[in-house]
Amino acid sequence: MRLDAVIADAVERLSPITDTARLDAEILLCKTIDMPRSYLFAHPEDELDALSRDRFETLLMRRLQGEPMSYITGTREFWSHELLVSPATLVPRPETELLVELALREIPRTAAWEVLDLGTGSGAIAISIAAERPLCSITATDASADALAIARQNVRQADLANVTCLSGNWTEPVADKQFTIIVSNPPYVREDDEALNDLRFEPLSALASGKDGLNDIRILATLCMPLLTNDGWLMMEHGADQKDAVAAVLEEAGWREITCHNDLAGLPRVTAARRNGK
Ligand code: GLN
Repeated sequence: MRLDAVIADAVERLSPITDTARLDAEILLCKTIDMPRSYLFAHPEDELDALSRDRFETLLMRRLQGEPMSYITGTREFWSHELLVSPATLVPRPETELLVELALREIPRTAAWEVLDLGTGSGAIAISIAAERPLCSITATDASADALAIARQNVRQADLANVTCLSGNWTEPVADKQFTIIVSNPPYVREDDEALNDLRFEPLSALASGKDGLNDIRILATLCMPLLTNDGWLMMEHGADQKDAVAAVLEEAGWREITCHNDLAGLPRVTAARRNGK
């Protein structure tokens, strides 16, 4: 079968499950034949041999069952980095780039701050901040050893000397340290949210957080305060419908200057707060 026919057939089968059927089909075919996408356009008449056909079909079936492209290809773009991902890590989302942007807005280029990323997963947030602020030291923690192994590979691949990955629950591995800024994309989905079904390939422990989705945000609101410098920042991603609830949690825990920021879709997505204000 010709490459263009293989793509056309795959697009038809993928269309009911994704808005990016053509792109997905092309990427899966490129992975199968280990060629860049430009090859598909230059050689549409190439024949796909039987062995490659089988391998392509295996990848296509995974996608048709709803597995995210990132787990099939093993990588995901975030900020300016091509990151390894695995089922042990969440697939980094574009909206999480807002958290990076807000952190960078507060960290002067010349600052040599201690920065903490809690529940780093693939390391996306820690790596993005570390690359933009080479004078800062970033500590990234995760309770999942498998996720942390991926984060460490990503740090190595990005050739960063200013990120340290530590294994443990939230702030447990950094109990005696002080930071000027703490960032986190914690789990925040309600445990009975039907959206979790669409996210079934991703680690539940990185997504769901109790009845109202706020269990971990409540924990972080308490744990982070004593680890920050007097004017230090806490910035957390949360659900689009959790703005007021997160503000209430932070207020109750004594945080100041609580401010919510919208993501590119215009949805409330990251709340920042300070230990003591300026
Ligand atoms: N943003 C993710 C979603 O698609 C959730 C990520 C998280 O819980 N931190 O729902």
